[in-house]
Amino acid sequence: NSKINLAANELLFREGEAGQFAYLIERGRIAILRDSAGEYQLLSELGAGECLGEMALISHDPRMASAMALEDTTLTVITRDHLKERMARSDPLIRHLLQLTLKRYRQSLGQTFPDTSSTQDLDYLEDEQQAMQRMRTEHDLSHALDKQEFILHYQPIVRLADRITTGFEALLRWRRDDGQLVSPDLFIAVAEESQIIEKIGHWIIDEASQARTRLASAYNGKLSEDFYVSINLAARQFPDPELPGVVQEAIRRHGLLAQQLQMEVTESQILENREHAISVLHNLQSMGCRIALDDFGTGYSSLAYLNRLPVDALKIDKMFLDDMLSDQASRTIIAGMARLARDLQLSFIAEGAETEQQVEALSALGVEHVQGFFFGRPFALETKKEPA
Ligand code: C2E
Ligand code: CA
Ligand code: CA
Ligand code: CA
Repeated sequence: NSKINLAANELLFREGEAGQFAYLIERGRIAILRDSAGEYQLLSELGAGECLGEMALISHDPRMASAMALEDTTLTVITRDHLKERMARSDPLIRHLLQLTLKRYRQSLGQTFPDTSSTQDLDYLEDEQQAMQRMRTEHDLSHALDKQEFILHYQPIVRLADRITTGFEALLRWRRDDGQLVSPDLFIAVAEESQIIEKIGHWIIDEASQARTRLASAYNGKLSEDFYVSINLAARQFPDPELPGVVQEAIRRHGLLAQQLQMEVTESQILENREHAISVLHNLQSMGCRIALDDFGTGYSSLAYLNRLPVDALKIDKMFLDDMLSDQASRTIIAGMARLARDLQLSFIAEGAETEQQVEALSALGVEHVQGFFFGRPFALETKKEPA
């Protein structure tokens, strides 16, 4: 960060100039002045610790007032570049609202600068569309729970040795007003960014727990007596202090054993806040719940800390199975992961098997469990609600 020094009565910037920087006052005092009919009018006085010129960081509009040192003053210069990367990473909705607020503010001051922001910040224009769409989805999502628009589908997880179903993965679907089913890939991310995920997460845990009894009677396949229901946890659910209580309550309310619930988490979710995530997982595991590491082998993490993670099962993604029949290397990798799981005494589930050939090959590679369209697509239970 570069610093600049101003003497008393020295101008920092002039109204109408293009603004490039914001400034943080380290020591001294700055007057903010507006030129009204040739005379300077004092708008405000700023001192150490205060910031000025910050609007230039957000829009390319000219300075709305002048700034002049009242005494010897030292400033830290903040460039737009400092912020650019952070802005790019921030929520497009927040960026959009910031732009709007700024525009309204300028309008309220009766300042009508040519709208340069839209031509110079093309990325902001795109943001606007994206932000609006997101805001709509977010709004609809926040009502979807009350409107009972969420449903869970269940997909069997089958043990290859005897082809008995040992569990079901609960997969979320959103049935919108128009009856259209929306895939979680299209809305989970939005729900995660807006905290709505916590409430949806609570609903999923209760609903999936309640469904276990109904699954036992509705399912046509061969079912293990102590089968489990597997629930996907989103990264944003880890910081939720209510999570362990909600799980405990669901288990109690629906008369389950804790090991009849499995929680699926991905490596990248754990990595977001590793120590905390691990402690939450320990907590769930000590309650008796199973923990599965989902999408194993697709993250960045090393195997080094696998034994530090409280997990009972590894799940591998469909991508590993996609070319397994034509590619020897793929088979070697699958066999290696299955072996690793066995040696660590973890259960192993290969996801996304669609054909008999795949299932046979997986069996030959030592894979213990398979989940995939071959054994069953995700299905819905009766939607009829039990009386509360
Ligand atoms: P995931 O946890 O890896 O879920 C497995 C996905 O693979 C599911 O997609 C499932 O329908 C699909 N799948 C399973 N077998 C096959 C197969 O043989 N062929 C093909 N083509 N696909 C197969 P889905 O239900 O669309 O879910 C997508 C992702 O959305 C999930 O990936 C998970 O990350 C997320 N998700 C789903 N339900 C929930 C939920 O309740 N909570 C949270 N936080 N995330 C969820
Ligand atoms: Ca999953
Ligand atoms: Ca998965
Ligand atoms: Ca996946």
